[in-house]
Amino acid sequence: MQSPIVLPSRQVNVVDRSDVVVVGGGPAGISAAISAARNGASVTLLERYPYLGGLAAGGMVLVLDDMINGTEITVKGICVEMIERMERKGLAVVPSENDRTIEFRDTPEAWQRWARWGLFDFHVQSSPNPHPVCYAAAFDPDAFKQTSYDLLTDAKVKIRLHSWFSSAIVEDGRITGVVCQTKAGLEAIMGSVVIDTTGDLDVAASAGASHTSSDFILTTVSRWGGWTPTRPSASSRRSRRSSRRSTTKPSA
Ligand SMILES: Cc1cc2nc3c(=O)[nH]c(=O)nc-3n(C[C@H](O)[C@H](O)[C@H](O)COP(=O)(O)OP(=O)(O)OC[C@H]3O[C@@H](n4cnc5c(N)ncnc54)[C@H](O)[C@@H]3O)c2cc1C
Repeated sequence: MQSPIVLPSRQVNVVDRSDVVVVGGGPAGISAAISAARNGASVTLLERYPYLGGLAAGGMVLVLDDMINGTEITVKGICVEMIERMERKGLAVVPSENDRTIEFRDTPEAWQRWARWGLFDFHVQSSPNPHPVCYAAAFDPDAFKQTSYDLLTDAKVKIRLHSWFSSAIVEDGRITGVVCQTKAGLEAIMGSVVIDTTGDLDVAASAGASHTSSDFILTTVSRWGGWTPTRPSASSRRSRRSSRRSTTKPSA
């Protein structure tokens, strides 16, 4: 192992200041930023990639699967606004209310009409095929990126893409801003409230917040629909231990 190098200290320009700074432009960050802006806060959203939507867009999710509990729609709000905007542009498909009725939803006709889009309740374990058609949306991932952008700009959220969060600015035990790596170098964005929606706890970990890493990992099970915790194999536990040892602790 070579000895570490010491970087010279650098001055970082403050390029923006908002009431709320959201780090991460996936579904959670988009919703947090829009909600804050609609409630009157000035908001800046940072995203490391050149597009919005996070895993839902860049991970080719393609189907927002069943958003129901029985016949009740359980996912609403900004998610539904997003779906309806994409639908109006012909870039998302949702089974009609009529096709979701108890009388029709598990008929062969319903299955034939919607199953190829993946718009059925695949969590129903006991049901024989056809599984019931339900409120779910098949969508174009690029439409998700564009619509995220439209919703955010309509709410007057300031968007900074290509901004890779690198460290939290902590004063008196509070996060008062963030530093990100951009094409223009390091930039600082200050905020009264900083929301970590990186999906990886990057901001909180960098600020030194205590957090727990699970000894368990999530893996998909082979049967339809579901995630189950399984113990990592002995070799993966060994490799995780050695990677933890070699990882530099984030600085506060
Ligand atoms: C194939 C597939 C199917 C799925 N189907 C469904 C489904 O049907 N329904 C459902 O609800 N969920 C589904 N999911 C899961 C869903 O995609 C995630 O739950 C959702 O994207 C999580 O949103 P998030 O905003 O919390 O995180 P993410 O989508 O991961 O967004 C985090 C964002 O933060 C950014 N970021 C991370 N680190 C930094 C950093 N250091 N600096 C700046 N930016 C950073 C990332 O680039 C990303 O844009 C599916 C996932 C996959 C892969």
